[in-house]
Amino acid sequence: MLYWNPKYECMDREELEVLQLARLKKTVDRVYHNVKPYREKMQKIGMTPGDIKSLDDLKSMPFTTKNDLRDSYPYGYFGAPMSEIIRIHASTGTTGKPTVAGYTKKDIDIWADIAARSLVAAGGGKDDIVQVSYGYGLFTGGLGMHYGGELLGASVVPTSSGNSQKQMMLMRDFGCTMLCCTPSYVLYLSEVMQEMNIKPSDLKLKAGVFGAEPWTEGMRKEIESRFGISAHNIYGLSEISGPGVGIDCFAKDGMHVPEDHFITEIINPDTGEVLPDGSLGELVFTCITKEGFPLIRYRTRDLTSVNREKCVCGRTNARIARIMGRSDDMLIIRGVNVFPSQVESALLDIGQTSPHYHLVVDRVDNLDVLEVQVEVSEDFFSDEVRKLESLEAKVRKKLDSILGISCKISLVEPKTLPRAEGKSIRVTDKRNLNF
Ligand code: AMP
Ligand code: ZN
Repeated sequence: MLYWNPKYECMDREELEVLQLARLKKTVDRVYHNVKPYREKMQKIGMTPGDIKSLDDLKSMPFTTKNDLRDSYPYGYFGAPMSEIIRIHASTGTTGKPTVAGYTKKDIDIWADIAARSLVAAGGGKDDIVQVSYGYGLFTGGLGMHYGGELLGASVVPTSSGNSQKQMMLMRDFGCTMLCCTPSYVLYLSEVMQEMNIKPSDLKLKAGVFGAEPWTEGMRKEIESRFGISAHNIYGLSEISGPGVGIDCFAKDGMHVPEDHFITEIINPDTGEVLPDGSLGELVFTCITKEGFPLIRYRTRDLTSVNREKCVCGRTNARIARIMGRSDDMLIIRGVNVFPSQVESALLDIGQTSPHYHLVVDRVDNLDVLEVQVEVSEDFFSDEVRKLESLEAKVRKKLDSILGISCKISLVEPKTLPRAEGKSIRVTDKRNLNF
């Protein structure tokens, strides 16, 4: 099977743009009537839904940011009444308030369709046995690929994440042919495979769909050679739907975006100006078929470029390049979004430490590790080991619960962390993700 939905994946661009405009008009009308913050923003600039006459008119709509969503937490941007919402997901960051996404039945069906397209683009079909090792839960990875696999008619094995020995045992015994998880997890699984004396030839695995965090071409090569499979990059975010917003086809020359559902723009993150295709900038999406959470010009903060030329695979849908970084300070550690500001506010809550801290992220044995270096405040600093140990435990416990991932705490003496003259550098990322 080459395509899941060839009508839309390979649609002539002119025809696609006619479809996009009709759907955009409908969505703008929906948000104007159903989503108060959008109506207010439009009224402020004197816009009505009737002003959308061409795709170019989208540029006059205001952007939507993560902060806008936080300000309307949890349901302020929902475009359908709760009686029509059948599922709720949230972003992975566990900052007090995640961003919350609601889906109607139609939204879930469309999301399943784009996840099925992704599996097919990665070489999947009805005969495949798909092991979904993304986490199931509020995170969109697990359930997103699960519904896509079922719609495709493949056999879905919902292992979720964790319990790596069992994952490898099932992969071998069940004859799984496709694997969905984060790229760091599949690399970790390769080590478990070795420890268990399982050889790639003992497995039926042929392809993997890996995403939810940044990774590199080098990692792709590594994964492909360790397992003898084809590794495909998949992109997604809960605000737009989940996995399937971008997927590598066999050409692996950018991830195809289902443009019949999402309009893609690249902007200059500092000025908001729309950049021409091929320029590196911040990725912005407008959902044109969503009902539950129909975001207009959502600023993803992800940096990439877009290519709208037809691909060698025959798809005409635009391709986004591998994500190069973020235009804010968010880190993704073991698939979880972490903002340095979360650490800062936690330390301020605890007291007894100075406001100087430094995050060191590294990748050890293919797993991300986070070290938080914290300066102890001068008045608290003491030679008493027990006192310091209890402070360390307190900081660790607080950060574990706020960030949702475990980290190593290193208490350092007052005035030992470097001070910056301009913008402070709070993070050292040693993971060497060279794009
Ligand atoms: P969440 O909504 O919590 O699932 O997080 C979405 C974020 O994960 C995106 O905005 C990206 O920063 C990141 N992400 C997802 N897929 C990829 C990918 N394939 N490559 C790089 N980053 C990704
Ligand atoms: Zn392609």
